This record gives sequence, structure tokens and C-alpha cells, in this order.
Amino acid sequence: RGVAFRTCKDTVVFEKDEVLTRSGQPFSVFTPYKNAWLKKLTATPFAPLTPIRPQAAWKRLAKPARETLVPELETLGFARTNLKALGIEPGMSGAARLIDDFTGRVDRYQDARNYPDVRGVSYLSVHNRFGTCSIRDLVRVAMQRQTQSAATWLSELIWRDFYFQILWHHPRVVTSAFKPKYDDIPWQNDEGCFRAWCEARTGYPIIDAAMRQLNQTGYMHNRLRMIVASFLTKDLLIDWRWGERYFAEHLNDHDLSANNGGWQWAASTGCDAQPYFRIFNPVSQSERFDPKGAFIRRYLPELAVIPDRFIHAPWRLSQAERKHLGLDLGKDYPSPIVDHATQRAIALHYYDEAGG
Ligand code: FAD
Repeated sequence: RGVAFRTCKDTVVFEKDEVLTRSGQPFSVFTPYKNAWLKKLTATPFAPLTPIRPQAAWKRLAKPARETLVPELETLGFARTNLKALGIEPGMSGAARLIDDFTGRVDRYQDARNYPDVRGVSYLSVHNRFGTCSIRDLVRVAMQRQTQSAATWLSELIWRDFYFQILWHHPRVVTSAFKPKYDDIPWQNDEGCFRAWCEARTGYPIIDAAMRQLNQTGYMHNRLRMIVASFLTKDLLIDWRWGERYFAEHLNDHDLSANNGGWQWAASTGCDAQPYFRIFNPVSQSERFDPKGAFIRRYLPELAVIPDRFIHAPWRLSQAERKHLGLDLGKDYPSPIVDHATQRAIALHYYDEAGG
């Protein structure tokens, strides 16, 4: 029909084969990948993309004819949602506002990014996922600042490219562990525990608050993604693929490569993953990253009356203190469904048995 079709790369900065080792192999460790990526970035002219305007021939086509050439979003399986009700401003204008807002905060990213109750991160993931902002523009935001914070944020953008190329070069990660020996872990896969995790009923406040954030908003802070993923795999001893699937169904920013990479990182089955013997303690993570329990209280109002010291582990309150606070543990809020120290020992044993 005389309509030219042009593609341009703007999902990633460097795609699958652009950053390789000296011997032409894909990287599977992040730091050398990042160094090669940065080297290539400074050696590559980084011009803005020329916007592609619809051609006259395209514009002349009637709507039904256009739809036979390019399917509508509904045909692709997308349903209309009210993202604004979740506080997400969609489209390029929504992304532009977030970029603006984050540009004023990027120098505080390093200090603020780990605290779920602080507005420390960019919240751009859903726009990165759907292409309503340009990854090149984001790199520019980071490069314009010569600060450690901006460099740390740039690293996160590089992790994104890293996981895309891992998925491309190792498509087996979709169903299997990147490190095959960990496919032998005898996951307990207790359905009841899995439901409790999904439904925010584990009795560990930081886990339950995080899962409510996911269930209510379609977003979860990165620190919390790491904590709940570690808890599912190493405390509940449930296959990381179950958690990955649940995230895929509930995250607005769901992206196969980042989600798979994140889950395999937390389960220690992935490339350049958390070593299997470093198991997050949900209580100390909570004390460290939500010290006053502000995030917990936001999502678990039933714990609002609990003093800061006990908010991370309400089962440590004495009977008398519970009575005084009017908290009936097991009724108003669940008792912990597992004991962290016991489960940690079992997890270590499973990983050791699988080859360490
Ligand atoms: P910022 O901290 O502002 O980071 C800027 C951008 O960098 C993000 O928007 C995102 O595009 C990218 N980014 C940041 N961290 C990572 C990372 N570790 N890996 C890849 N890209 C990253 N991210 C997704 O986009 N989709 C997912 O489905 C997803 N699933 C995850 C599952 C687990 C178990 C874990 C541990 C992490 C997952 N992440 C995922 C990565 C990260 O948690 C989110 O990208 C981040 O929380 C989004 O918030 P933000 O936009 O404010 O991030």
C-alpha cells in the first residue's frame, strides 16, 4: 500500500549483541558487563532519536484499513484500565512529569532508594515497560549529573539491559535455573504457605505490607521485591517460579527479563545472583529499611498501635503488652507461619545438597 515501515531501537540502550566480551561471548557477570557497557556508551554518539512522524500514505488510509495492518491494542489482548486511580499517570506526558520530578531528586537516590516509605526511586518502571519514555532520555538524565547517586541510578538502567541480553542468550532461564544444579532443589511448595504469602497473611509485617502494596497498587518497591522473594524461596521453601508467576500477574511493570532476573537473583539460582548462604532476615531487613514502621503502618493499619520497637515482630510482645494494646495475635493479625531460623537452616541444607 505504499506505506514504508521503519523500526528504531529504543527499548534498550544496547541490544543483545552490542556488548560482548573480548572473545565475542555474552557476559553473565554484571560488573564486567557494566564496564563494557559504559565504555561503549562514551564511544557511541548519543544523539536523540529523530521522531518518526506518520507518513502521508498512512494518514490517508481509512481506520478499518489501518487496523488490518496494525492490530489495535484490544486485539493484542490489552484491556482498558483506570491507572490514574492507582496514581499512575499514563502516556508520555505522565512519564515526562515523573522524569521532571526525579531529575530534582536523582542526587539523593543513593541514600533514599532503599527505604520503601521514602520517595527515593523514580517510579518509572511502568513507563520503561511500555515505552512511554525513552531509555536514552533517562540515561541522559543520569549522565548530566556527575554524582555518585546518578551513577548508581545509571547502574539500575544497565541492569535492565543486562537482563534483556541474558534472556536473549539464555532463553532456557524462562523455565529453568540459570545455574542448572539448582534445578535439583526439592522445593516444599506448600500451597497453604503460598496462599498466605500471596494474601499477605504470613505474620511477618514487612512481608505482608509489601504484598498488600503489590495487590493494591500493582507496584512493589525494589527493596521489598528482594525481601519477599527471599522469604518465599528461602523461608517458605517455595519454587521461585511460583513467585515469579504471581509477580507477572500483579505487577504493572512486569517485564519477563527483569522479573526472571530478579527472582533468580533472590533465589540464588541466577547469573551473578545473591550467594545462597546470604539469606535475608525479614525482621532485621524491616528494622533497617523501615525503622519506624511507617511503611508497615501504611499497609497494615491493624498494627498501627504497636510501638516502633515491636512493629517488625509483633509476636515478641508479651501477653500483657498485647492485652494492653488490644492486639489479639492470631485473630487481629496472624502469628508467623514459619520460624525464620529453622527455615533458614533447611534452606542452607537444600542448597548445600544441590551442590553449594
Ligand atoms: P528505579 O530504582 O528508579 O530504577 C530505574 C529503572 O531501572 C527502573 O524503572 C527499571 O526500568 C530499571 N531497573 C531498576 N532495577 C532493576 C533491576 N534490578 N533489574 C532490571 N531493571 C531494573 N523490574 C521491572 O521493570 N519489571 C519486573 O517485572 C521486575 N520484577 C522484579 C522482581 C524481583 C524479584 C526483583 C528483586 C526485582 C524486579 N524488578 C523488576 C526490578 C526492580 O525492582 C524494579 O525495576 C524497580 O523496583 C522499579 O521501580 P523504579 O522504576 O522506581 O526503579
